[in-house]
Amino acid sequence: MDKPTGVWNCVRGFEHFSLCDWPGRTSCVIFLGGCNLRCPTCHNFELAWDMQKLPVIPENDLKAYLRDRSKWLDGVTVTGGEATNVPGLGELLFEIKKYNLPVKVDSNGMRPKVVRDILDYRLADVFAVDVKGPYSKYPELTGDAVSAIAAKANLEQIFELARQFPASFYFRLTKVPGLTAEDIAEARSYLPEGFELKLQEFVPPRRREPEHAQPDHETRRAVGDVVN
Ligand code: SF4
Repeated sequence: MDKPTGVWNCVRGFEHFSLCDWPGRTSCVIFLGGCNLRCPTCHNFELAWDMQKLPVIPENDLKAYLRDRSKWLDGVTVTGGEATNVPGLGELLFEIKKYNLPVKVDSNGMRPKVVRDILDYRLADVFAVDVKGPYSKYPELTGDAVSAIAAKANLEQIFELARQFPASFYFRLTKVPGLTAEDIAEARSYLPEGFELKLQEFVPPRRREPEHAQPDHETRRAVGDVVN
């Protein structure tokens, strides 16, 4: 078998059937490895930071599943890691779109230009964007991967896209340790008018031995669609 390349080399997890990843829909979930952030509370740390420890899901298997089962699904969730950080994401979304299924992409919102391109090319229907907290706490919340200034600049671009495409966004926040009620209120105040901040309970991630490393599906279920 040919060695996977490009975006297909980053497909490191697949959940055939999920009732919790896209609220109100039955979706399958594609997990892409790699992330631009280093959140200390990350549930999918192997996938986000060390995807080589996880097996590649063969492109042909994924396509065969979508071909055979698309009529049983209401959509496809593409998550990570951080999907917008993966080169070739558009190619993957283009392939998924061939099966006439709505697509949701989970994102931390730190690559708004990629989000804009995907919307422009109609390669996804919905973005679920995590607002991690007040801008001032982004360095702490992301393992110093994002400054407060960068968080504000990126999320403001995302919020502008949400104003333009209101049906294509929803926003969520996970109540990780260290966030206060005031922090959550401040994060909520950033959202454009008419949007709600969906709150998710935090469940501490389980650190596991490398040989058992897999995308943390169980914990994902416990916390809803917390992991982007
Ligand atoms: S929580 Fe999400 S954004 Fe943060 S490191 Fe993990 S995958 Fe990346």
